[in-house]
Amino acid sequence: MSKSYDVIVIGAGPAGYVAAIRAAQNGLTAACIDEWKNYDGSSAFGGTCLNAGCIPSKALLESSELYHKAQHEFAGHGIEIKGAKVDLAKMQARRAGIVKQFTGGISALFKANKVTGLQGHGKLLAGNKVEFTPHDGKPEVLQAKHVILASGSRPIELKDVPFDEKTIVDSWRALEFDEVPKRLGVIGAGVIGLELGSVWSRLGAEVVLLEAMDNFLFMADQQIAKDAQRHFKKQGMDVRLGAMVKGCSKKKSGVTLEYEDKKGKQSVEVDKVIVAVGRRPFTDGLVADDVKIKLDKRGFIEVDEDCRTGVANVWAVGDCVRGPMLAHKGSEEGVAVADLIAGRVAEVNYKVIPSVMYTAPEIAWVGKTEEEVKDSGRAYKVGTFPFAANGRAQALAAANGMAKVIAAQDDDEILGVHIIGPMAGELIAEAVLAMEFSASSEDLQRTIHAHPSLSEALHEAALSADKRAIHAMNK
Ligand code: FAD
Ligand code: NAD
Repeated sequence: MSKSYDVIVIGAGPAGYVAAIRAAQNGLTAACIDEWKNYDGSSAFGGTCLNAGCIPSKALLESSELYHKAQHEFAGHGIEIKGAKVDLAKMQARRAGIVKQFTGGISALFKANKVTGLQGHGKLLAGNKVEFTPHDGKPEVLQAKHVILASGSRPIELKDVPFDEKTIVDSWRALEFDEVPKRLGVIGAGVIGLELGSVWSRLGAEVVLLEAMDNFLFMADQQIAKDAQRHFKKQGMDVRLGAMVKGCSKKKSGVTLEYEDKKGKQSVEVDKVIVAVGRRPFTDGLVADDVKIKLDKRGFIEVDEDCRTGVANVWAVGDCVRGPMLAHKGSEEGVAVADLIAGRVAEVNYKVIPSVMYTAPEIAWVGKTEEEVKDSGRAYKVGTFPFAANGRAQALAAANGMAKVIAAQDDDEILGVHIIGPMAGELIAEAVLAMEFSASSEDLQRTIHAHPSLSEALHEAALSADKRAIHAMNK
């Protein structure tokens, strides 16, 4: 007889492993199948996020930022460091150590919650069966009352600039470079391009980013994006907008990237290339042909607002379904689905999903951009406050950027909050909570914020929406 579970999850990234743990917490028997293999052949739970995304990128961002500070900022504090040097092997070992700690942590959480973690390939068969093929083992068929598909995403490859795993690489390989490239080309100035571009630029690479769109950070509030563009330029990152990459030619060492912009055909020579033009949902080999799971035009698994696929008791969550490709979005979907399966009330509030870019300065936002609010036709007011007037930011020598609050003119509801500046990714949590509770800008204005703290910038931005900021001119 085949083994049977209440819930089988395919994929142990932040969407899948979280769903499995919550299912077990809800008293259901749960198994989670994952096929991830690292370059050294080892397998690990945690998916893209833990192995090749959120966690390793943040480790390198922190290390490279400290090196940058040691070289350029400590002197301003009266601290002299002569001859600061990078030991890249050590930096990379630290990054790998953090990843190992976290992926090992998932195995421990599975054990503690009595989730059966299975390493190998999972395939949904008809009748809520799942074929599990262990790495180097024989397939077996498992039975489930519910199946959750959480197969994630993979980097998009450009046909004319194909990956070669050495000079033209995806974001995963780019996290594991064993030397700092002299000239680094990055295709795509999106989140990955800017985060990884920052890492290698701080460590000494000359970085050129080729971005097809004319607007820098077109998905962000444009006032914030303009400020960000200025900072990245000052840091020496060469961002070329309206630059559509068309092809490449490989040299003995390095690559020439060919692109087109307003002026016509252009090219740039680099030693290594990171292709960061987005990710695609990954569903290869996930579902047997006779199971009628529908994919949309872009390859995402079609689901309703509760993440139900069209097939009874089959759900899908995370990067393989519509919505932003963010770890916390996937995790919330995983939790909601596991709760719905257990008969609890659950819902994901897609309107208040925070976005964070871990560059310097950090950029974070939640809700609508000013452009989106304008387009919606709703009358609004805006308050901004510069970190230059924030005591804690000055003490941190990180007084760049601003906080911005957009609220409705009629009922004062907060419609969007945008922050560029120190710890923006932490500060945005207050705005997320406020919006989750449908707060008004007055609610933020009346909330006491510790002094001196970075959060005062958000407080003052809310006050400024009503021209009542204390520490700035209310223009
Ligand atoms: P994944 O994490 O991709 O996990 C899917 C898992 O399913 C994988 O382990 C895969 O091996 C497995 N799988 C697929 N098919 C099968 C199958 N048939 N059988 C068995 N196993 C299967 N997001 C953030 O929110 N914050 C960040 O700071 C951030 N930084 C990032 C940095 C980089 C460089 C990258 C690449 C991404 C980053 N992301 C970040 C995005 C984030 O990693 C993804 O949104 C998140 O990992 C999606 O989670 P998921 O569980 O849906 O999929
Ligand atoms: P992205 O969508 O953020 O950016 C891709 C960029 O590439 C776009 O600006 C696009 O215009 C550009 N582009 C596409 N084709 C091009 C071409 N031929 N020439 C030049 N430019 C081109 O995608 P990404 O940076 O690859 O990131 C993938 C996903 O991972 C994102 O959805 C993001 O949410 C997630 N991620 C999140 C974080 C975070 O939360 N901090 C960090 C990294 C990645």
